[in-house]
Amino acid sequence: MALSRLVASYDQLILDLDGCVWIGGEPTPRAPEAIAALREAGKRIAFVTNNSRLGGEEYVRELWGIGVQASAGDVVTVGGAMQHLLAETRGGRTAFVIGTEAMHRHVADAGLKVLNGTDLASRCEVVVLGGTDALTFDDLRVAALAVRRGADLLATSRDPTFPQPDGPAPGTGAILAAVETASGRTGAIVGKPEPQLLLTALDRMGEARTLVVGDRLDADVAAAARAGLDAALVLTGTDPPSREVIEDPDTPTPIAVAENLAAVVLGDGDNRAA
Ligand SMILES: [Mg+2]
Repeated sequence: MALSRLVASYDQLILDLDGCVWIGGEPTPRAPEAIAALREAGKRIAFVTNNSRLGGEEYVRELWGIGVQASAGDVVTVGGAMQHLLAETRGGRTAFVIGTEAMHRHVADAGLKVLNGTDLASRCEVVVLGGTDALTFDDLRVAALAVRRGADLLATSRDPTFPQPDGPAPGTGAILAAVETASGRTGAIVGKPEPQLLLTALDRMGEARTLVVGDRLDADVAAAARAGLDAALVLTGTDPPSREVIEDPDTPTPIAVAENLAAVVLGDGDNRAA
């Protein structure tokens, strides 16, 4: 299958997962064929996600499940990036974690002592916050108290929502906003729009002409701009920006806007140079 002129001019692609490759586990139209065409043409591919619900290996299984070949080295999750940052800067400290089992593992594997479920939780030194659908009021209470007492607040993202088939669900940013509101302090972000995820992917792939494809201006396109990379915007997210917002000179500009990933890669959609 022939690649679009746009994609043919790059050596490698960094693909956002949620809202770009899939939505709630369902592939976007012809995404598996588009990715297969990229592999056939010898393009290197990395998958990145601000979603910390699963570990890298689980995303690999999900990719195989929709018919996309991938290995663990191809997937860069924000949980992995968080673990890297914690290991480098906060090894041996105590932590309270809001997040999935995968996020708890990342924090423990970084060498921090996780205090969840102990009386000392609100005295921890670091609050690590990722997306989860098992949030309790007590999580918010302990996290806000710890941050108010001086703990660092590190979150995987500020994404307000994440795409689900029946509409946007509250994302990590919504949980972070609750802790920030209750503690009166602002957290730091590891995921997009910060460039770390993309830089980790580049580290693995090597320096070459790289195109980032994602569904969010405020995350994917912004992170690409900060990493010095071109980005294409796809409109398959649950919250696609209006043309007005895309063309706003104050927002980072995608090099192309397309209906979906397959249209970017195969050039059979509204794929125009911006
Ligand atoms: Mg996305």
